[in-house]
Amino acid sequence: MCIFCKIAQKEIPTTVVFENEDVICFNDIHPAAPVHVLIVPKKHYEDALALTASEDAEKVLGSVFRAAAKVAELTGTQDGFRLINNCREKGGQTVMHVHFHLIGGATLSEKII
Ligand code: AMP
Ligand code: ZN
Repeated sequence: MCIFCKIAQKEIPTTVVFENEDVICFNDIHPAAPVHVLIVPKKHYEDALALTASEDAEKVLGSVFRAAAKVAELTGTQDGFRLINNCREKGGQTVMHVHFHLIGGATLSEKII
């Protein structure tokens, strides 16, 4: 089982910021910003393309964005945040279980797009 599946199934303890039926949200161990929460579908999909190809895509992606809004509310980042997905090796993905980074809590200056 992959590390994010173990976290989703509570086999590895973590500080849960928010969860619903489809996703679990917890703090990144190497925060890139004052707020850095990972929004992780509970079901294992390797990456964003695998999730998008699945029959659950609309429901799970809806839950991801609703969870992001809730995490922004809970972390006080409704004044601005980024939601990032690194997809596959050339996109910089290192954990092969799809996840979305919500970063905020500061003015995010390192814009590449
Ligand atoms: P990515 O490089 O987009 O695949 O992002 C993987 C992220 O997972 C990195 O920001 C890591 O710091 C984070 N990470 C890896 N293992 C854990 C863990 N056990 N708990 C929380 N975050 C983790
Ligand atoms: Zn997994």
